[in-house]
Amino acid sequence: MKVVIIGASFAGVAAALEVRKLHKDADIILLEKQATLGYIPNGLHLYWDNKINALDDARFITKEQLDRHEIQYYLSATVEKINTTQKIITYDYLEKEELIAYDKLIIAAGSRQLSEKIDGSEHERVLKYKRYDEAQAALAKVQESRHITIIGGGQVGVEAADLLIRQQKQVTLIESMDYVLFKYLDEDMIQPIEQKMTDNGIDLKLRQTVSSIEAEADHKISVHLGEESVASDAVIMGVNVRPNLHFLDEQIDLHMDQTIAVDRYLRTSAEDVFAVGDCIQLSGPGEEMVYIPLINNAVRTGIVAAANLIKPAVPFNGSSRTIGTHVFGYYIASTGLTEGESLFTNRTVKTCRQEVRLTSLPQSDTMTLKWVYDASTHELLGAQLLSTSNILEKINTLALAIQTKQTLEDLKQADYFFHPLYTQMVSATNLVSWMAERADEDES
Ligand SMILES: Cc1cc2nc3c(=O)[nH]c(=O)nc-3n(C[C@H](O)[C@H](O)[C@H](O)COP(=O)(O)OP(=O)(O)OC[C@H]3O[C@@H](n4cnc5c(N)ncnc54)[C@H](O)[C@@H]3O)c2cc1C
Repeated sequence: MKVVIIGASFAGVAAALEVRKLHKDADIILLEKQATLGYIPNGLHLYWDNKINALDDARFITKEQLDRHEIQYYLSATVEKINTTQKIITYDYLEKEELIAYDKLIIAAGSRQLSEKIDGSEHERVLKYKRYDEAQAALAKVQESRHITIIGGGQVGVEAADLLIRQQKQVTLIESMDYVLFKYLDEDMIQPIEQKMTDNGIDLKLRQTVSSIEAEADHKISVHLGEESVASDAVIMGVNVRPNLHFLDEQIDLHMDQTIAVDRYLRTSAEDVFAVGDCIQLSGPGEEMVYIPLINNAVRTGIVAAANLIKPAVPFNGSSRTIGTHVFGYYIASTGLTEGESLFTNRTVKTCRQEVRLTSLPQSDTMTLKWVYDASTHELLGAQLLSTSNILEKINTLALAIQTKQTLEDLKQADYFFHPLYTQMVSATNLVSWMAERADEDES
């Protein structure tokens, strides 16, 4: 069996490794248009944070690892066309057009930081840095810039704002919603972070939509929003990523948002063609199909597609949109439904927000924790964490609780370890800790 995978990033590589595990004799070929392999998209943030010495250190897979698994790869190989009737792919490699046939095809071509809605977003001082070469260019541009405008207050934009302000840059951050990180946290949870952002001198422009970007004569670049304009030395695009799938043929059905339509087994409308990662929508926290471009989803969909190559065996079980990061001195994490988002579902939810101590020591730090649960069944639907201590791993426990449809009552009996250095009498993520202390008016 010859399995061709378009795109050698998280989804493509995860699929390739899993195909090798399941099909010892398969020929596995990765086609990747970048010249280097396995760059981690937030490598530039790791570099600015002094966690790595060079962008080259931000890699999640090496050529040697692929060689060891007998996975072939072609770098600088750009797929231009696919013919899913004849099962043939056309790609550019070393300035020559090449053809390759497949038995099974996995499309893992991911996404780009693009905004078609914003005119001027292709200018060279408008920085995107998901890819290695883009990150190199952005690094140089930021070094020579004093004032930087960030468009988008999602995880990329807020992390960038924190890292740039620490380099004494002047930062303006523009977000069209009422508050930053709105996909992951409710407004009541975000207050300390927004406060820290303004305390640190960030010019936070909320509820403002960018209409266009324009280069000025004096090397400045202007971002236009309504009547107002912000002139700075460079702009960072922290807006949502979008798939880039110009090479598909008409046999492959797309959604309105240009993602590839797949079934539960990640099969497309063309026979023997699968799609994974940032190319597809997933069943999200509200159980509707949504676009959730995250590495955890890319890896998991890659693994599931590999399991379904021969016959539909393993359905993909959706995404709780689990994230964790460290910004402006706070560790924040989120999984599942937020209270704000619940308004768009037909669920009636209740919430509880509480500050819990993390250890049994007198000087213990605390964590603010918000639970979102179904008002009638008490099933846990979402959780948000915020602390100055590193509590990020705790979100995975709660993500698992959501995935396995645990109720508040189930969670009361969760068997968590006790050690006075690391826990209090009742673990911070055990519902008993707030059940015992909560005042009914805390609930909404
Ligand atoms: C700055 C930044 C930081 C991020 N940080 C995080 C994070 O910390 N955690 C997290 O969960 N998510 C993060 N994300 C989101 C994450 O990058 C994506 O969800 C993830 O990369 C998706 O993986 P993928 O394999 O589906 O696609 P991609 O990583 O987009 O990879 C697709 C690959 O396909 C290749 N390709 C595309 N078209 C072709 C073609 N025609 N021919 C050949 N090859 C092609 C591309 O070159 C690319 O290597 C971040 C995103 C950005 C922009």
